[in-house]
Amino acid sequence: MALKVQEECRCIKCNGTMINIAEIGLQPIGGLAFVTHGHYGSTYFDPMDAQSYLEIALCDDCVRDAERTGIIHREEPPRKITSFLKKQRVRRKWERSA
Ligand SMILES: [Zn+2]
Repeated sequence: MALKVQEECRCIKCNGTMINIAEIGLQPIGGLAFVTHGHYGSTYFDPMDAQSYLEIALCDDCVRDAERTGIIHREEPPRKITSFLKKQRVRRKWERSA
């Protein structure tokens, strides 16, 4: 299947236009792109052929709004404890005990 080069793509939520810098697929400026090969449970798209997929673009404004309202969940790795933070923790502990 030949993939079509798209110079623009649209946000799935607000239909806003973004510039697509990818030669194949989507890589929007000012947004994110997602690919799914389908999921068990979908009544719309679950081809089970390991080749078919849907590609979706979502603009940054829609991501930000969805995260603010709890629709998107962000997971991040734990922060590294630097020596500066360790010193701050020790100082706070000491101040509380004084
Ligand atoms: Zn949008």
